[in-house]
Amino acid sequence: MKLILLGPPGAGKGTQAKRLQDRYGIAQISTGDMLRAEVAAGSAIGREARAVMESGALVSDDIIVRMLAARVEQPDCAKGFILDGFPRTVPQAEALDRMLDEKGMRLDAVIELKVDDAALVDRIAGRFTCAKCGAGYHDTFRPTHVAGKCDVCGATEFTRRADDNRETVAARLDAYHSQTAPILPHYAARGILRSVDGMAEIDDVTHQIEAVLDGLPEPA
Ligand code: ADP
Ligand code: ADP
Ligand code: ZN
Repeated sequence: MKLILLGPPGAGKGTQAKRLQDRYGIAQISTGDMLRAEVAAGSAIGREARAVMESGALVSDDIIVRMLAARVEQPDCAKGFILDGFPRTVPQAEALDRMLDEKGMRLDAVIELKVDDAALVDRIAGRFTCAKCGAGYHDTFRPTHVAGKCDVCGATEFTRRADDNRETVAARLDAYHSQTAPILPHYAARGILRSVDGMAEIDDVTHQIEAVLDGLPEPA
């Protein structure tokens, strides 16, 4: 199964992608996570991407497309993948079409998480992640069961993203509306776009997505 999860920053893409990965045995591919790993490693890509990410703008299509092309060749993508945060521009969507065509693959669905801008700021400002296993949490909406301890792996160190502040969020939302939302018609025209209510509770969003996936024709 090959899916795209599309939605503005803070919509819940990462949260839902991790659940789909576990349930369907397909790889979560987060270009944001990949870029943060490059930044942490101090690689050439990381050095180029860092300032762009902290400003809330998008990293160049060229870098992203090359990174993605290498990633889908990895063995964990054999049963499929969930693209989380890619494509984010029309040229990226077109590059993905070419890439899949060359491999004789097709997308099963593009799932749009619809969330109001006003809710996104609070989601992003409260987001934190387990430093050890990457599990995602929220100060108010999804706290750990035991304060300061990861539910999944028990670690006690957490990270907050440098770009998860109220100032940068505005730039990231602008980038979403001006550069990413224009790819929705591209998939709507092909009849594979499905929109779900991302304002609902986390479990409810998962159920909506599962209902969409259960209704799909057999995966390619
Ligand atoms: P969020 O989960 O809040 O939507 P991401 O982790 O996906 O954010 O992305 C963080 C930042 O990484 C983006 O603001 C952008 O600078 C960069 N980035 C991630 N994916 C892409 C992409 N497909 N194209 C361009 N830039 C990207
Ligand atoms: P994205 O990957 O789209 O940027 P995340 O999955 O990281 O978004 O979610 C952003 C923040 O909002 C996280 O702190 C997460 O725990 C929280 N969150 C995710 N989905 C919901 C939801 N449906 N309701 C409330 N909070 C949510
Ligand atoms: Zn953990």
